[in-house]
Amino acid sequence: MSKPFEAQIEEAVRTAIGPQEEFVALHEPTFKGNEWEYVKECIDTGWVSPVGSYVDQFEEQIADFTGVERAVAVNNGTAALEVGLRLVGVEEGDEVLMPALTFVATANAVSYLRAVPHFVDSEWKTLGVDPEKVENYLDDIAEVRSGECYNTKTGRRIRAIVPMHTFGHPVDLDPLKDMCDQYHLEMVEDAAESLGSFYKGEHTGQWGRCSALSFNGNKTITTGGGGAILTDDEALADRAKHLTKVAKNDHQWEYHHDTVGYNYRLPNINAALGCAQLEQLPSYLENKRELARRYGKAFAEVERVNFFEEPPFGRSNYWLNAILLDGNQEGRRDDVLARLNDNDLMTRPAWKPMHKLPMYEDCPRMDVSVAESIYRRLINIPSSVFLGR
Ligand SMILES: *Cc1c(COP(=O)(O)O)cnc(C)c1O
Repeated sequence: MSKPFEAQIEEAVRTAIGPQEEFVALHEPTFKGNEWEYVKECIDTGWVSPVGSYVDQFEEQIADFTGVERAVAVNNGTAALEVGLRLVGVEEGDEVLMPALTFVATANAVSYLRAVPHFVDSEWKTLGVDPEKVENYLDDIAEVRSGECYNTKTGRRIRAIVPMHTFGHPVDLDPLKDMCDQYHLEMVEDAAESLGSFYKGEHTGQWGRCSALSFNGNKTITTGGGGAILTDDEALADRAKHLTKVAKNDHQWEYHHDTVGYNYRLPNINAALGCAQLEQLPSYLENKRELARRYGKAFAEVERVNFFEEPPFGRSNYWLNAILLDGNQEGRRDDVLARLNDNDLMTRPAWKPMHKLPMYEDCPRMDVSVAESIYRRLINIPSSVFLGR
């Protein structure tokens, strides 16, 4: 008789990651480069706060790596999204399209601006926004009047769409970009999970007017906490920098602030950590691909479950590896989660879709049945860089 389903999944995970002595986290950081040296330098010189050379260096290196003109470092990815959305013109009462299946920060960033999240469905190929389904939906409910898009059901303006690259897998951006042009929508990419992920050969984050990265402790590289706004629009980058530095005008001694700004800067000590991490990013990405390859091989042997692989048009950073249970096995998801978590293998379901959360249950949404099905069937499995060595 074959082993129980849960045991087969545990075995496949262990085959891929090899023997492990301790509890295996979902994604833990690795500090094996110049982290200590750079952080120590900040402390030794006293340059720990948001002004300092590591912030400038980090911004330049992030821009270089991602292929954008400018990167503005901020204190977390949520702040990057909030400021990005504000700068593309999202105002109080506007609707912003976003996947129902995302981390809560995407919706929160919109809420901070007193705008309204409007949830759209995902597709199986990318786990992200389904361009065709969303376009058909907009054909039904949206109308362009004097260059602006309106929801004919709610009367509100639809200002923007925030595609999110789920677990690092690139969304199909070209058709989304065409849809944005047709419907006069701004695009802000939530690229929080996709540093090192490419769409048709170009780094993600270049299709939106701007996009947001996160360097939280569980992301591909970390600054402890941190984020960045990416953009090719110099004026937008300058405004982002200004707004996130409490909107203070440069002057030798005078405190003058020209609007209500934010204190969203990234401290130099965090940027120092980021510079050291960035030096190792290419090797991290190789390790992550190797781990994904091993998972793919191990799960090829297990029936009724599939290892999720990058879409054909993209190169994923495989930030978080994922398996998808067959539809008729979705009732087993929690048994699998219990088995692996009880045996020191940290695993998680996908995020509960946004419209299932109390603060977002009344937000407008289309049919999001694919997002709901992904939520019932998906399990994230251990993905730390060191596991792929
Ligand atoms: C991590 C993440 C964020 C937010 O980043 P923080 O740095 O934690 O604020 C936003 N969106 C998605 C999809 C994320 O995974």
